[in-house]
Amino acid sequence: MTATRPNSSAGGAPDISARGRLFPSLLTVAGAMADVMTGAIRPHRQTLARSSGAAGLPAARETVTLTAFRQVRREVATPTVADGLRHPARVGNAMTSFLVRHPDANILVDPAICDDVHHRVLPQLPAPLRALVAPPASVASTQSSLRDAGLSFADIEFALPTHLHWDHVSGLVDAPEIPIRVTEREWRWAMAGVLAPAGVARRALVGREVDYYDLDGPPLLGFARSHDLFGDGSVTVLDMSGHTPGSVGFLLHLDDGRGTGRPHWALLVGDAAWHTVQVTNVRGKGLARAFDSDRSGALEVIRTLSELDESIAIVPSHDAEAAVRFFPSAN
Ligand SMILES: [Zn+2]
Repeated sequence: MTATRPNSSAGGAPDISARGRLFPSLLTVAGAMADVMTGAIRPHRQTLARSSGAAGLPAARETVTLTAFRQVRREVATPTVADGLRHPARVGNAMTSFLVRHPDANILVDPAICDDVHHRVLPQLPAPLRALVAPPASVASTQSSLRDAGLSFADIEFALPTHLHWDHVSGLVDAPEIPIRVTEREWRWAMAGVLAPAGVARRALVGREVDYYDLDGPPLLGFARSHDLFGDGSVTVLDMSGHTPGSVGFLLHLDDGRGTGRPHWALLVGDAAWHTVQVTNVRGKGLARAFDSDRSGALEVIRTLSELDESIAIVPSHDAEAAVRFFPSAN
């Protein structure tokens, strides 16, 4: 299923103060803000290439259930999320974590926030970036969301982040015992350098047990590589590299809610798209320069997402509206 290896030497990489990265980060954030303004005049869409088209869905023999933990929602200006898109003027943003229940394991996808994240994690980010991304003080921790669902970290087998930006793993700060499953490529990107890449706070990662998996499966739904996590088609990892070098999405074959009409397939895309409006309008992020490591690759992923069948529910981790469909209260 997955290749389990001991924590790599990179896992012990020192955590570096954000102070030394202040100036380049300031330039990047200023450039990204300028992109938002120029994008309002002419969206940066010219580099889009056609995707290779969608292959079929996996032949799944098992289902999982999906719960999106309730999270504080805030309104953000749409042009910062979707390049050049002015309507609607604002969209809902949230830092959502997900619980996926498979018969063999309970999985946390994108455990976003730890208790007291503003003091325990955010100081590891460069100040200009921190100012852009700091969540509201009332943001819910993954630990508190689990508690509200009648669970604890002891009920979780492993964490499965879509990528290693701080707001997709910081919930693990409260759970040092939980292993994390990622591709080696994403782990090395986040951990191998002396300086953490912008957006990575290593506090949740250093010293943690890491299980690597390989994207060893065939092209699927237009994405170049895949990995069947349990060997039963219930959770399929898709290569969505672009936002970060090892970004992935998770295609879930859902228990359909006992005939409630909810979707049979959900695709958790992490930050491959910040909001569904990017997919429906085929737009890169307004602030892509500050957040996407490969902007053209990230655009290609959005193009591929836009061509998926509408029966697949696309759920970006920061799209408050998309997550609402799976809130526990809707069960
Ligand atoms: Zn991210």
